Amino acid sequence: MNPLAARAASGYRDRMPSHLRILWGFVVGIVLGAAAHLGLGADHPALVAVVTNATEPAGKLFLRALLLCVVPLVASSLVLGVVGLGDLRKLGRVGAKTLGLTLCLSAISVVVGLAAANLVRPGVDLEPAVRARLVAKYASNAAEVAAKATADDQTFAESIVGIIPPNIASAVAKNPPDMLGLMLFALFFGVALALQPEQVKKPLVDVAEAVFRAASTMVHLVMKVAPIGVGCLLFSMTSRFGFELLVPLALYVACVLGALLFHQLAVYGALLRVLGGMGLFDFLRRAQPALVTAFSTSSSNATLPTALEVSEQRLGVPREIGGFVLTIGATANQNGTALFEGVTVLFLAQVFGVDLTLGQQLTVLVLAVVAGIGTAGVPSASIPFIAIVLSQVGVPAEGIAIVLGVDRFLDMCRTVVNVGGDLAVAVTVARSESSRAGGAAPAAAP
Ligand code: ASP
Repeated sequence: MNPLAARAASGYRDRMPSHLRILWGFVVGIVLGAAAHLGLGADHPALVAVVTNATEPAGKLFLRALLLCVVPLVASSLVLGVVGLGDLRKLGRVGAKTLGLTLCLSAISVVVGLAAANLVRPGVDLEPAVRARLVAKYASNAAEVAAKATADDQTFAESIVGIIPPNIASAVAKNPPDMLGLMLFALFFGVALALQPEQVKKPLVDVAEAVFRAASTMVHLVMKVAPIGVGCLLFSMTSRFGFELLVPLALYVACVLGALLFHQLAVYGALLRVLGGMGLFDFLRRAQPALVTAFSTSSSNATLPTALEVSEQRLGVPREIGGFVLTIGATANQNGTALFEGVTVLFLAQVFGVDLTLGQQLTVLVLAVVAGIGTAGVPSASIPFIAIVLSQVGVPAEGIAIVLGVDRFLDMCRTVVNVGGDLAVAVTVARSESSRAGGAAPAAAP
């Protein structure tokens, strides 16, 4: 191994584990941000200068550097996953299981979210004065989101046709990239490549392998500064917004967190126990590095290299199954996002006094499942989708302003559930494939 690669790999092993270092950055960022907010006040000129000129750009640099690696990583990982599965029947089977589990879990997650919002009714008692203050504070950001949502307003048929990009170069050139389009292309390309004779296939598989390794190393190198990046992101967030937003929105935040926790523990727990052959707490312990990375980056895509490593080395999922399931899942299997969308739409409907009928809530369910599949695995990607769903059910899309202040924190939490779901599906699919082949459950490392 060359010295750079060796150092990139060993950095994880020698000192404190990387996810613990990230947690440190997280805690320091929050504590310093909260102290600055309480001691100086959010509008203090020195604090504003530090945030706008130092911590915010530093945090954004970290996130952008991670996202920079996503396109080559997803493309190469998926091509390798498809080719690695070998025969197309196995690919079809693994693909069908992944899709089936994704759809079922997403639908369940939205039902959990809708049930929680109907039960707790977090929007009913939000004071009109607080509502007006929040709408005014985030009006310009919300107007931007709403305008984007209306610009993207498509009929059902148009959005189905739009799933296939006519030009892969322009699909990945978008910001954020069209991940669904990229995935379809990589899948299709991988299938076509798998059909080639060995001498045609081999050079391209070698290239994909090299691209994948290089992109993973890029992410590892960026993750070395994760404690600083995460600390800066958290400092900027808490010093600017403080915790006072959490008070009027406490019920809403608690409702989202409670529902996410239920999904992560009860739904994934049942799936893992019944179909995955693994206990929930064992799973959580093994999956911890990926879950911490998801929490600190708010991005399923940026967590992909860690998730792939965790699934292979700590959960015992065969590489080709992990490569396929996790890469697709990072974009398509977003239970936390779908659940969050369900709760948020209902919350905002309650705030604006719009009584959603059962039929309208079913529409929210279907749209949230579709949105969970279509949302890119990058920070705040679900916000424009919520604006679209809101306008579909007659709630002012600008109402999104009310939740923007707490979105960063909720994004961290829902991304943990997104990544947890991908890993749970990978374990389940791997188990069912291995029992089909007559083997035992995935042999998880200790
Ligand atoms: N940040 C989420 C993810 O990457 C997507 C979202 O809900 O905004 O998984």
